[in-house]
Amino acid sequence: MKPTHIEHIGIAVSNLENAISMYENVFGLKCYKIEEVADQKVRTAFFLIGQTKIELLESTDPEGPIGKFIEKKGEGMHHIAFAVDNVEEQLIEAEKSGIRLIDSKPRKGAEGLDIAFLHPKSTAGVLIEICSHK
Ligand code: ZN
Repeated sequence: MKPTHIEHIGIAVSNLENAISMYENVFGLKCYKIEEVADQKVRTAFFLIGQTKIELLESTDPEGPIGKFIEKKGEGMHHIAFAVDNVEEQLIEAEKSGIRLIDSKPRKGAEGLDIAFLHPKSTAGVLIEICSHK
């Protein structure tokens, strides 16, 4: 696998509006989009730092992945997303190298990206998302 850059860093927050204000007021960043991703039971807000995005994730359902994460660990860094050329091909390659996959096939993430998650048990404890623009 050869990621081209860090596409975004995903951060779990309990209140999206409060977190947006903090990023705008403290870091002077501008939230350029809020998007609900029903599939992942989250509302997301995006900021751009260089070519890397900060993706804030607020759960819309306590049973969803971010709801469970916050209940267990509290707010904080949730995942890192590496940009790759082709998610489907990289998943096949990752599986061949013995990486445990959370998603065996790409699915649709925020901003229309193809995304897939690798299991943190296989990636030194960090939840890694690979993603690409179609
Ligand atoms: Zn993400």
